[in-house]
Order: sequence, then C-alpha cells, then structure tokens
Amino acid sequence: AAKADGRGVSRFFREEMLAGAQKRKRLEDDLRSALGDDEFHLVYQPVVSTRDQRIVGYEALLRWEHPTRGAVSPADFIPVAEECGMIEAIGEWVLRTACAEAANWPANVRIAVNVSAIQFANPALPAIVTSALATSGIGADRLELEITESVFVNDDASSNQMFKTLKGIGVRLALDDFGTGYSSLGYLRKAPFDKIKIDQSFVRGAIQAGNRNAAIIKAIVTLADTLGMETTAEGVEQQDEIKLISDLGCSHIQGFVYGRPARAADVRAQLDSGGSGAGGATPVGHRVSR
Ligand code: C2E
Ligand code: MG
Ligand code: MG
Ligand code: MG
Repeated sequence: AAKADGRGVSRFFREEMLAGAQKRKRLEDDLRSALGDDEFHLVYQPVVSTRDQRIVGYEALLRWEHPTRGAVSPADFIPVAEECGMIEAIGEWVLRTACAEAANWPANVRIAVNVSAIQFANPALPAIVTSALATSGIGADRLELEITESVFVNDDASSNQMFKTLKGIGVRLALDDFGTGYSSLGYLRKAPFDKIKIDQSFVRGAIQAGNRNAAIIKAIVTLADTLGMETTAEGVEQQDEIKLISDLGCSHIQGFVYGRPARAADVRAQLDSGGSGAGGATPVGHRVSR
C-alpha cells in the first residue's frame, strides 16, 4: 500500500508541477508581449517631508493591465520578468517613462524609480540612465534610484563601481525595504546612499504601546542621521502614525495616508491645481492639513 501511495503522490506532484510550469510559461509569454502591446503604465505615490508637510517627490510604481488577467501585481510579475530576462527592457521603459513624465512637474519635485538587482548588475545601466535624463531634460539630482539589499549579493567590486558611476552621473540613491533583507550593516559603510527607506513592516503596529517597531525605527533613523542619509517611512496609513513617525525623526513619509498611487495625468492636475489633491496628497508648496 505504501508503494502505491508513493506512486500516487509522485504522479500527483508531477501533474501539479507540469500545471505550474505551464501557467508560468503563459505568464512569461504574456509578459514578453506586454511592452509592445502597451499594457504597462506607471502610477506615482507622493513622498512627503515631515519637516514642512510638503510633497518633495513621487515614487513611480509599475502597473500591468492584462487584457484578460486584469491587473497583475508587480510583486507577482517583477520576479518573473527578472528570471526570464524581460526586466532589462521593462526597467528601461520605466526609467524613460518616469523621467519623461516628471519633466512636466515643477523642477523641485523629484522622481524615484525602482531598479532591480539584475539591472543594477548590468554595466549598461549608467548609459540608460544618462540617456533617460538627456531625453527628458530633467536634472540628474531629480532622479532617485531605489535599490534593495539584494544588489549586495553581487560581487563587491562591480557593485562598488556601479555605485561610483551612478553617483558620478549625479543621481540620488535610496536603499529600499531596509531591514527586510540580508540585514548586514557592512554595506552601509561604503555604499553612497542618500536615503534609507524603512520597510512598511516596521511601520505596521509601531503606534501600539509596547510595540518594538518604534524602537527599531528610532535606531534606523539614528544610524541614518549619523551617516548623513535621509529616511523615508513606507506604508504609513493612519493620521496618528504621521505624528509618531515624525517624532521618531524620519525625514520623509510615504503611504496611503497621503494618497494612493495615481496616474501621471492626475498627479499633473494635483500639482497644477495648487489645492489639496485626491486622497489627501499635498501639492508642492502647500501644507498637508492633518
Ligand atoms: P516598493 O518599491 O517597496 O513600493 C512600495 C509598495 O508599497 C507599493 O506596492 C505601494 O503601492 C505599496 N504601498 C505604498 N503605501 C502603502 C500603504 O500605506 N500601505 C500599504 N499596505 N502599501 C503601501 P506595489 O506598487 O504593489 O509594488 C510592490 C513592489 O514591486 C515594489 O515595492 C517594488 O519592489 C516592485 N516594483 C514596483 N514597480 C517597480 C518597477 O518599476 N521596477 C521594479 N524593479 N520593481 C518595481
Ligand atoms: Mg520602492
Ligand atoms: Mg519599499
Ligand atoms: Mg517592497
């Protein structure tokens, strides 16, 4: 009986794996045609200064609207794009599109773009960044590249060189999702980050009495301050979290409390109107009403 069960189980797994592989293959095929079929767009989420409650910039977030699947989350398709080699083309499109759309904003509004570790390991990245800047006409200091700790998996010499080259171009660098990755602090010694983005898992629950997250956020802020880096708390959803995060010393806040990510046209309207935008986001030069 044990043997029969074993065979049954293994056949079950074979079929499951096959079905999984076929599903995955279809997602890959769909991803390959998505760029050409114009199925991607960007949405932008405001980054607000805790000092004066003004919007200092926006983070570009990729959206894939598939004709039959509907909206596919970047958390689901970015890893697939990384594995099937599509991330280079998609990432370049994101950079160029984000810079072009930011060129329509006031010159003191920054644009942050997520860069995959695969793009970061490609020596072609600096040329793509330079070209996206030149084509759009925005200054290098308005572009902030967000990278995660996974870039440090690559060999030290080439990632150090990439950091140097990007800083040489004049763009800003942010360390995304801080605290969730390999958690070695060693790389903070050398990597020239302008900003640390504190992962939203630390913001979650920080407001509750006795929660350790507030202490961790404070420690990260102290570390960042000492190293001359800014800090953005990610995923701030509630009004009372704004005060806590500000009191903990974070220089910037991002989260649904200041607005859901919005299309370029809506961001433009928000910036133009000078009034309070949808979702409570605050246009440049205007304070957020709490
Ligand atoms: P991320 O770069 O850490 O982006 C922040 C994510 O948190 C976004 O999810 C955003 O919509 C979400 N978020 C912002 N505020 C709040 C909040 O108050 N509460 C909650 N619960 N969530 C909030 P999204 O857009 O689904 O993106 C997920 C991840 O996918 C991003 O994490 C980033 O790692 C990746 N990603 C998105 N766009 C791109 C891209 O253009 N290129 C690359 N390489 N990765 C991207
Ligand atoms: Mg990010
Ligand atoms: Mg993040
Ligand atoms: Mg994330």
